Amino acid sequence: MRRIARLGLLTQILIAFVIAVILGIVFGPAINVVQPLGDLFLRLIKFIIVPLILSTLVMGVASTGDIKKLGRIGSKTIGYFLITTFGAVSIGLILGSIFSPGKGVNISVPSEAAPPPETEGVINILLNIIPTNPIAALAEANILQIIFFAIFIGLGITMVGKKAQPLQDFFIGLSEVMLKITGIIMKFAPIGIFGLMAPIIGEYGASVLLPLIKLVLSVGVACILHAVVIYSFTVKTFGKMSPIKFFKGILPASVVAFSTQSSSGTLPVSMKNCEDNLGVSNEVSSFVLPLGATINMDGTAIYMGVATLFIAQFYSVSLTFEQFLLVILIATLGSIGTAGVPGAGLVMLTMVLTAVNLPLEGIALIAGVDRFLDMFRTSVNVTGDASAAVIINTSENKLNVALEQSSNKVV
Ligand code: ASP
Repeated sequence: MRRIARLGLLTQILIAFVIAVILGIVFGPAINVVQPLGDLFLRLIKFIIVPLILSTLVMGVASTGDIKKLGRIGSKTIGYFLITTFGAVSIGLILGSIFSPGKGVNISVPSEAAPPPETEGVINILLNIIPTNPIAALAEANILQIIFFAIFIGLGITMVGKKAQPLQDFFIGLSEVMLKITGIIMKFAPIGIFGLMAPIIGEYGASVLLPLIKLVLSVGVACILHAVVIYSFTVKTFGKMSPIKFFKGILPASVVAFSTQSSSGTLPVSMKNCEDNLGVSNEVSSFVLPLGATINMDGTAIYMGVATLFIAQFYSVSLTFEQFLLVILIATLGSIGTAGVPGAGLVMLTMVLTAVNLPLEGIALIAGVDRFLDMFRTSVNVTGDASAAVIINTSENKLNVALEQSSNKVV
């Protein structure tokens, strides 16, 4: 036991993962008894999300010290998010065309399929970012609204200056405490991940997977390709970091994302990984990561591309070039509006299907394996956020060095 405790956290997590898969296969649904361990872990990480996002983001914004700097970091971050998401849907569409996962699939659409869930229109999504009652936003854990509220408190602190110092100190203290608690909870991660993964493998087994194995493989390969090619390139070129160091540093968060299927839930872990393993400053990570966990979903965008093609192929509908472009546009917007919680991408997929006139019953086709698709896409979502943090961190550091040099010259 002591030997296990001495292994690094990453090794412990990976061992727990492998044991979960093996025991899930061996015991089947009976392995469900370990589910409470997973639920316990989920509750533990969820309970810190709201105070963590609020405090770190207020602090991140307030510590930038001026609005110009905030605008600069904000526009760089959002620009990077948009470009990578755009690339992600395109990769999804290309691989969906190559693998053609929907051709020759023989599954019937359940006739009593639940009516597809309603999605909000783009305008409503945007309007809903503004909380009419910030306290309710906190109580309901509405992340996008909390981000809006936090950015404004941070800006207010910067503008008011000295008189707001106690408020700033309060948020600094709160965020330190929240990160400390994250560290404690992470010690429990291997057991929690075991408790989450084993029941999924035990319950679903291979039988659910087989008819749709090509779809799962297409999403999986597209996600891995996007992560390895795009993030290695951006992290190396703009972040000046070796991709191996990057992937190793963010691996614990990726595994937690894979097991929980929630970017928001993984946020405490990704913040800790970025700061401790990848050297990202607290100022950058506390701004980029909460924002990314809410609006930057490359994995979800990939999934929307592949899933749309899958459904089109299943119903023998061929999409025109204009429709392909429409899918790219709507999937990019849809992934921004997707909440960082399990299964949210499946709901948002209806937006894309409606845009290109595909039958919404197609959702029922993939619902059975969506859990597995969610694992891959959430891992990529979280890794993409971390790549943004690394890149923004490096570019801000460079700028600081340049500013220091020029001010030295002036002196
Ligand atoms: N589960 C994903 C996430 O939390 C969202 C999705 O369903 O695509 O990032």
